[in-house]
Amino acid sequence: MSMPPVRIVMKFGGTSVADLDRIRIVAERVKHERDKGHQVAVVVSAMAGVTNRMVGYCHSLDASCDPREYDAVVASGEQVTSGLTAIALQAIGIPARSWQGWQIPFRTDGAHGKARIDTVDGAALLACMADGIVPVIAGFQGLGPDERIATLGRGGSDTSAVAVAAAIRAERCDIYTDVDGIYTTDPRIVKKARKLDRITFEEMLELASVGAKVLQTRSVGLAMREKVRVRVLSSFAPETDEAGSLVVDEEEIMEKELVTGIAYSHDEAKISVRRIPDRPGIAAAIFTPLAKARINVDMIVQSTGADGMTNLTFTVGKADQAGALDVLEGCRDDISYGEIQTAHDVVKISVVGIGMRSHAGMASTMFQTLADRGINMQVISTSEIKISVLIDAEYTELAMRALHTAYGLDAN
Ligand code: ADP
Ligand code: ASP
Ligand code: MG
Repeated sequence: MSMPPVRIVMKFGGTSVADLDRIRIVAERVKHERDKGHQVAVVVSAMAGVTNRMVGYCHSLDASCDPREYDAVVASGEQVTSGLTAIALQAIGIPARSWQGWQIPFRTDGAHGKARIDTVDGAALLACMADGIVPVIAGFQGLGPDERIATLGRGGSDTSAVAVAAAIRAERCDIYTDVDGIYTTDPRIVKKARKLDRITFEEMLELASVGAKVLQTRSVGLAMREKVRVRVLSSFAPETDEAGSLVVDEEEIMEKELVTGIAYSHDEAKISVRRIPDRPGIAAAIFTPLAKARINVDMIVQSTGADGMTNLTFTVGKADQAGALDVLEGCRDDISYGEIQTAHDVVKISVVGIGMRSHAGMASTMFQTLADRGINMQVISTSEIKISVLIDAEYTELAMRALHTAYGLDAN
């Protein structure tokens, strides 16, 4: 009796499909896996830079444009690359067809621009593959409850790929990108970054959520829940079986590092509400209306002076800054604060590791390292496996490199 074929998902990011030559290389990569006898489903992003251009078009016409039309525009890049990749595959003799999100369909919720996938119907894809045809799926897009195209948030094709892998019960979901794996930190910022052969779902989830954009955060959460094996590898480096980095369960890692990685995010805006008469209920009076306006507050610090006046400083995503200021203006009478200050030129740097659960002193290494370089920490926040600090953006690289060395992460 012959074994059923192994199904794999191959996802190619923007730089991997940036031009026709690269799309031809993608087709060869797919052929290579097919030649091993595997059934392959392909997920593609838009050509590098295209989504940014589309976002720019929309916002130039209207900064607060209709999110449904925004989605109709920004999803177009993936429509192009799915068709082109199918053509490139056909050109080397491999039967292939493109699938748009709405054709499969990927059913999403109604949050245009950052929609969540509810369900993916794998039936049509399985039938397509059983017929010997490679489905080339446009990532980043689905169909909302209003029957209109909905996109999944920037970097969302990773999540499309994991969702496809879960729907067709694929053996693996290979994420091909422009680096050859997951590193201890962004290798473009820290030259001594070290490639990790394996990383736990939990750590990758935390790293992605604090800025490591090598995988979209949601894709990691989905892979963890659906038990999809995710591998990150380069679409440019030569193919080997050992290539890339695997995201795995904690039990699969024998030697746990104390700190696994460091990430940074420029997406924070700092807001300080100053000179508030200190009394119980102040924080609730500020953060409840923000929550009602669906604005996520990330880091918070409160400091009270001898005069009984308190200052509350917190961060929100840059896109939410204007909304947060509107909310604060609306509760000016309730809180009777003195003034509001905002800052953009800040970066959040986060150190992540499951070893932190059981080891003391991890935060003091961070504080000492930054102090030694004269870098001031404006806000600090911690979770079970993470410490984050907000510092002046001009020190991003200096702080990243110093922390990478201090936590013993440098490549030899
Ligand atoms: P794609 O277009 O293939 O989805 P992305 O640009 O979204 O690629 O993600 C890959 C990039 O993620 C890399 O070029 C790298 O600069 C960045 N990156 C950030 N943190 C890490 C990390 N810890 N390991 C590897 N790459 C990282
Ligand atoms: N093209 C989309 C973006 O640039 C989705 C992706 O690349 O994953 O965000
Ligand atoms: Mg990406």
